[in-house]
Amino acid sequence: MSSAAAEGPPLPSEPTSRSLTIEDFDIGRPLGKGKFGNVYLARLKKSHFIVALKVLFKSQLEKEGMEHQLRREIEIQSHLQHPNILRLYNYFHDERRVYLILEYAPRGELYKELQKSRTIDGQRTATIMEELAHALAYCHANKVIHRDIKPENLLLGLLGEVKIADFGWSVHTPSLRRKTMCGTLDYLPPEMIEQKTYSETVDLWCLGVLCYELLAGQPPFESSSYYETYKRILKVDVKFPPTIPLGAQDLISKLLRYQPSERLPLAQVLQHPWVQANSRRVGPPPAPSAS
Ligand code: ATP
Ligand code: MG
Repeated sequence: MSSAAAEGPPLPSEPTSRSLTIEDFDIGRPLGKGKFGNVYLARLKKSHFIVALKVLFKSQLEKEGMEHQLRREIEIQSHLQHPNILRLYNYFHDERRVYLILEYAPRGELYKELQKSRTIDGQRTATIMEELAHALAYCHANKVIHRDIKPENLLLGLLGEVKIADFGWSVHTPSLRRKTMCGTLDYLPPEMIEQKTYSETVDLWCLGVLCYELLAGQPPFESSSYYETYKRILKVDVKFPPTIPLGAQDLISKLLRYQPSERLPLAQVLQHPWVQANSRRVGPPPAPSAS
């Protein structure tokens, strides 16, 4: 599985465009375990194109009533093409399983890196903020709200660049039921806790929480109970450890606003002096038209 990936998306090349099957792939090592199945490194036999194959069991999806959400995720993610968003190339299914053909993210989860090194340095964090601001601006321009930006949902490309994954909760009526209730509340914006209507500005809040967590090693509203976390979020009770640079504190303060309309817009995140001074983002190659 060490050969370089071929160019182009792994779509069937026949003009008849027959659907792919599992027989079209060589399967490699497991990359991780998800709730509904596993993810494997895989390679298209024909083109040697390397992908991540996410295998979901229909029985489990049905048991949890997740088919609708999965359809939504596929519909949204397959239409987004951006260097900082994980590509969903295609999907197929057989009697028992659904297979998602995903872009392979060789450096794994940002979450694991954060666990290993405890904090992420300023340059790297600023770079991630710039990457995410670009990716989210693209999402919002396409009327997609991600709404679940956190280290667990950010994968890393070959050069360490961030790839937003997991569109399972994007453009969705906020559901405080499932994942959020059994997972972390740390990234929930006030308007979602209060079950008000919300807009793409929820992603700005999450960006502020993420920036804080990467630099401090823990999210800003972390508490010993859900109730305390809720209270701290609603009060926007942020305390900065002195290890967070003042420029980053300024940026975070401008993103963590109770009023969604007061949060710093993405264009200004990109222009923020601390981001400008510290980001080392390697931009994508210029589009053919922009000569
Ligand atoms: P959960 O709902 O608990 O987040 P999930 O069903 O969404 O799980 P994923 O998070 O998509 O499952 O995948 C499980 C793990 O597999 C990830 O945590 C990651 O480590 C790995 N993984 C998933 N997709 C890729 C990919 N495209 N490239 C590399 N690794 C991946
Ligand atoms: Mg996941």
